[in-house]
Amino acid sequence: MTDLILTINAGSSSIKFSLFTMAAATEVIRGQIDGLGVHPRLVAREGSEKVVDQTYPDGTGPADHAAALKSILALLQERHPDQQVTAVGHRIVHGGPDFKDSVRLDDTVLDRLKALNPLAPLHQPHNLSGVAAARAAFPHALQVACFDTSFHRKHPWVNDTFALPNQFYEAGVRRYGFHGLSYEYIVSRIAELGLADDSHKLVVAHLGNGASMCAIRDGVSIASTMGFTALDGLPMGTRCGQIDPGVLLYLIGEKGMTTEELTKLLYNESGLKGLSGISNDVRDLEESDDPNAARALDYFVFRVRRELGAMAASLRGLDAVVLTGGIGENAANLRHRILHDEEWLGISIDDERNYAKEMRVSTDTSPVQVYVIPTNEEMMIARHTARIAAQESVGTAS
Ligand code: ADP
Repeated sequence: MTDLILTINAGSSSIKFSLFTMAAATEVIRGQIDGLGVHPRLVAREGSEKVVDQTYPDGTGPADHAAALKSILALLQERHPDQQVTAVGHRIVHGGPDFKDSVRLDDTVLDRLKALNPLAPLHQPHNLSGVAAARAAFPHALQVACFDTSFHRKHPWVNDTFALPNQFYEAGVRRYGFHGLSYEYIVSRIAELGLADDSHKLVVAHLGNGASMCAIRDGVSIASTMGFTALDGLPMGTRCGQIDPGVLLYLIGEKGMTTEELTKLLYNESGLKGLSGISNDVRDLEESDDPNAARALDYFVFRVRRELGAMAASLRGLDAVVLTGGIGENAANLRHRILHDEEWLGISIDDERNYAKEMRVSTDTSPVQVYVIPTNEEMMIARHTARIAAQESVGTAS
């Protein structure tokens, strides 16, 4: 039997999963079940080959996380009968101020994570439902929590706090930062590619449906555009990004908006979707000739350029920039718009390389080198889980 690591990213109505070998952390299969409870669909790939694409007749598909995991287990048994899940690594959005590293999930840790639910009510409870389901489905497997916040826990205090009375900081009202697993993976790729010596002061832009930027000095995060929640910073697919808190006071005090209404507005109806009135997807906006689609992209580009300057200022200089995430990896037009005319910052973009989808999109003589590197949060979870498994002597290393 070969030992496998299952990675789980559980959302409100979906589970993204991947299976990696424990010994080499190489990917065996990955996929997702979405539409849980409504119209579930299971899609899985091995390498670039789609091996499953299954919908279910009404009422027969997995209705919740537990049932979804049973389907994943059945899929594994069918395709890889000689392999077993020895450890499960969970993406957990919030580790609060205390979890500075991935950790074995036991009842005590779970209770501490549940206590953080109010800090990420749209994500944390679903992540923890995934944990409960995985504990039931794989009772003998090691369960590991990997946090989106851990990578940012070395922020200097000035990048960790708001200018509120200190008691709020003590009560956990801090700038946590997110997308940490993605940033950590990119830092590891920079090292693997032999670029670390020229990337002491690095800015990574994770531009996907969720978007943030991170200032990294010698592999350590020192500032991030996301704050207390994953709402702050850059505009996103449907999230507003940075907003004057006075707007919220106005909407509550003068317009009578409730917490639920504001939550829906800021998380689901704003960003590219809100500005354009069309879509949260950059591809739709690039294809549209509606002026509001162009304005939404203008705002996105403007804010990314602005935060690039802010991140470079936090680092007091810049050696390298990495773009990643669905937009960063694929949207060459937006990369061009973000990176041109940035010579003042030391960036000189080579558009031929940019449109040819090369990894390095800056010119040879650019003082700041710019790379496009695909992220892989699942791989990072698998590596953390393998490390904790080795510490706990779980699974075989051969
Ligand atoms: P998530 O935050 O959900 O993981 P992704 O990192 O997968 O999101 O990014 C998804 C977004 O990437 C899409 O909504 C779309 O805006 C953008 N995107 C994906 N492919 C392309 C493409 N070929 N051209 C432009 N934008 C793209």
